[in-house]
Amino acid sequence: RAKHAGGSWYELYDAGFGQQETERLALETAMHRAIDRDEFLLNYQPQVDIRTGEIIGCEALIRWRHPELGMVSPAQFIPLAEENGMIIRIGEWTLRTACRQAKEWQRAGMPVRIAVNLSARQFHQGDVGDTIENLLREFELPAELLELELTESILMEDSARSLAMMGKLHRMGVQLSIDDFGTGYSSLSYLKRLPIHILKIDQSFVRDIDIDADDRAIVTAVIALAHSMKLRVVAEGVESEQQLDFLRRHGCDIMQGYLFSKPVLPEIIPTLFTTETERAIA
Ligand code: C2E
Ligand code: MG
Ligand code: MG
Ligand code: MG
Repeated sequence: RAKHAGGSWYELYDAGFGQQETERLALETAMHRAIDRDEFLLNYQPQVDIRTGEIIGCEALIRWRHPELGMVSPAQFIPLAEENGMIIRIGEWTLRTACRQAKEWQRAGMPVRIAVNLSARQFHQGDVGDTIENLLREFELPAELLELELTESILMEDSARSLAMMGKLHRMGVQLSIDDFGTGYSSLSYLKRLPIHILKIDQSFVRDIDIDADDRAIVTAVIALAHSMKLRVVAEGVESEQQLDFLRRHGCDIMQGYLFSKPVLPEIIPTLFTTETERAIA
């Protein structure tokens, strides 16, 4: 720990900070420099049509290559970035990078939709609709090649404004999905009013599908609910053939998970198109 630049961790430690506080502060300082130093990157995880085995999209997942700590998980730094406001810059970087990538793939004859996670603060602060409109124009990207993943918590906060913003995005032609569905508090009557296209069943329900009858019931119900509202369903965290088989039998539309591919660097995605698709989902 003493190796940290300028020995500042020690100084803070001496000043009475606990170790956790000290590490957190160091992470925050490093985060401020990370964009300029080009330390963030996006990995992409394919989303596959369960019936045809075709890759229909990719979720963009951010990674931070920290010069000393190595790869820092988004589960660790996104909540921190939400708290200190850095998420606005990081989120804009992510959207821009994803749009540029989507355009590149489209130009190469692979019109893959890219799904980008939006954090609550990003959604509520400023005009995310304008930001996205400008990016689509800048990259000449068709709106339907961009999907935004929102969480239930986003939608519950300031619901009138959220609804208006979603309406705006929907009219632009951007695809909207609810991420981690089932883990939040959205009521069904509320869901009915949202201008969304896709529900993503949280991986916590998919994980134990083979052994937990309650999870099977929940997954089955969510698929039926989504279809009755004309929504498509993505299952997250699909790791086994058994899980895939259950999902297929119950009419789930799209799967995403290690069974097909982990999140990978963008240059890997074209190779999956040609080699993996038919094999993984026979
Ligand atoms: P998420 O949006 O629900 O993303 C799915 C997470 O599940 C990813 O973790 C992915 O790597 C992981 N995953 C995918 N398939 C499997 C599987 O088969 N098994 C298991 N066990 N896990 C699987 P990751 O990349 O660590 O991201 C964690 C969370 O961080 C994301 O959850 C999302 O909430 C957030 N995040 C990631 N990138 C961004 C970003 O660019 N912006 C924002 N605001 N949040 C992001
Ligand atoms: Mg997501
Ligand atoms: Mg998710
Ligand atoms: Mg999740």
